[in-house]
Amino acid sequence: PAASAALTTPLQARPLRLSTQQPDFEAQFAQRLHWSAAADAAIEQRVLDIVADVRARGDAAVLDCTHRFDRLHAPSMAALELQPSELQAAFEQIPDAQREALLQAAARVRRYHEAQLQACGQSWSYRDADGSLLGQKVTPLERVGIYVPGGRAAYPSSVLMNAIPAQVAGVAEIVMVVPTPDGTKNALVLAAAHVAGVTRAFTIGGAQAVAALAYGTQSVPRVDKITGPGNAYVASAKKHVFGQVGIDMIAGPSEILVLADGSTPPDWVAMDLFSQAEHDELAQSILLSPDAAYLDAVQAAIDRLLPEMPRAAIIAASLNGRGALIQTRSLEEACAISNRIAPEHLELACREPQRWEPLLQHAGAIFMGAYTSESLGDYCAGPNHVLPTAGTARFSSPLGVYDFQKRSSLIEVSAAGAQTLGRIASVLAHGEGLQAHARAAEMRLHPSTNG
Ligand code: NAD
Repeated sequence: PAASAALTTPLQARPLRLSTQQPDFEAQFAQRLHWSAAADAAIEQRVLDIVADVRARGDAAVLDCTHRFDRLHAPSMAALELQPSELQAAFEQIPDAQREALLQAAARVRRYHEAQLQACGQSWSYRDADGSLLGQKVTPLERVGIYVPGGRAAYPSSVLMNAIPAQVAGVAEIVMVVPTPDGTKNALVLAAAHVAGVTRAFTIGGAQAVAALAYGTQSVPRVDKITGPGNAYVASAKKHVFGQVGIDMIAGPSEILVLADGSTPPDWVAMDLFSQAEHDELAQSILLSPDAAYLDAVQAAIDRLLPEMPRAAIIAASLNGRGALIQTRSLEEACAISNRIAPEHLELACREPQRWEPLLQHAGAIFMGAYTSESLGDYCAGPNHVLPTAGTARFSSPLGVYDFQKRSSLIEVSAAGAQTLGRIASVLAHGEGLQAHARAAEMRLHPSTNG
C-alpha cells in the first residue's frame, strides 16, 4: 500500500517558507544556503588518472576514454575532429527559425561584448612631468579552449557565450570540445560553432578533453586557457590543470534569487524560479518579499504550473531541497539578504527596480523589472550567461572579453626620470641588500660618467 500511495501522490514543490521575524530564521536560512563544493574522492581519483594518462599517451588515451565514457569508438583523432565544412553544413541545414534565432542571439551577444571591449579592454598610458611613460598594454590570449557540455543535454547558447567574447577579444585560435555520447552530434551546437567563429572543434569531452587542451596531444593543440561549464569530471579536471593553463571559474549549481514587491504576476515569478530549478536537483531558487499574501500567491502558482512541466521531478527536488520563500520586513532587508547570498542570477521583480539596484552589491547578473526574465539573459539579451555561482559573485565577475585578454605593464623612463627614480630605487635597493639593483639604478644617474 505504501508503494502504491507513493505512485499516486502528485508531485509537490514546497520551497521552505521562512520569515525574517521568526526566532530561528538565521539557523534555518544558513542550513538552506549550505552547499558544499567538497569534491567526491572517487571522481577526483578517476580524473587524476585520466589526466595522467592523456599526458603520457596523448591521442591514444583520449581515444580510449572517448570509447569508454562516451561509447564512441573512433579509429583515430581525425575521425573526432569536426571540419569547418561540417559546421557550415549544420548551419545551413537547421530549420530557418533556429538559424534566424541563432544569428540574432549571436549578433546581440557580439554587440554587448564589443561594448565591453571598448569600455574596459583597452590599453592605456600616461606621462610623468619628466616625460616618463607608464601604462598598460592589453593583448588577447593566443589560443583558448572552450568546453561545451554535451553529456546529458546540448547547449548551443554556451557555444555563443564562450566563443564570442574570445573572438571579440582578438583570440587567434578558438578550439572547441564537445562530447557526443554514442556519436550523436547536435546540429544546433555545430551551427553555433560556425556562427561564433570557432577555429577547430573536436567531439571529445570530460576530463580527457580538458587534459588534451591543457597539455596538447598529437592532434589537439595545447591552449593557454580553458573556459566553459561542465559536470563534476570537467570541473575537477579544470581545477587540476589550473596553472598549466588558465581557467575561467569552477561553476557550482545554478541559482536564482527573486526580490519582489508584489507587482509582478505570480505565475511569471513561479516560472522564473522553475527555470533555474529545472537545471539540476541541486539548483537553488529563492524568493524574497515583504508581502506574505504574494508569497502565498507564488506558492499557488507553483502548485498549479508544476504538473505542466516536463522536468517536474527535477524542479520539485530542487525546490523541496534547496528552495525558499522568505518574508522580509522590507525590501531594504531583502536587498541586504541578497547581498549576503551573492546570487548568480538576481531578479528585481519590482515596480521601481532603479530604486533598489543601488542597494545591491553582490550578484552575477541583475535583471531589472517585471519583463526582464532571467531566461532572456540566458539566450539573447547580450550579456554573458556564464556567471559566478555559490557566493563567488562576492569576488568574481561574469565571463567576459577581459577573460580572454591579459595585460603587460609598459614603462619608458626618460633621462630626467632616471635621476628621480634612480635615487629612490638606490635607497630601497641598499635597504634590501641588493647591490646589483642599486648599481643598475645609480649608473643611470650620471650616464656620461658611467656609460
Ligand atoms: P559534460 O559534457 O559536462 O560531461 C560529459 C562527460 O563527462 C562525458 O563526455 C564523459 O567523458 C564524462 N563522464 C561522465 N561519466 C563519467 C564517468 N563515470 N567517468 C569518467 N568520465 C565520465 O555534460 P553533462 O554531464 O551533461 O554536464 C553538463 C553540466 O554543465 C551540467 O551540470 C549543467 O548544469 C552544466 N551547465 C552549466 C552552464 C552554465 O552556464 N553555468 C551551462 C550549461 C551547462
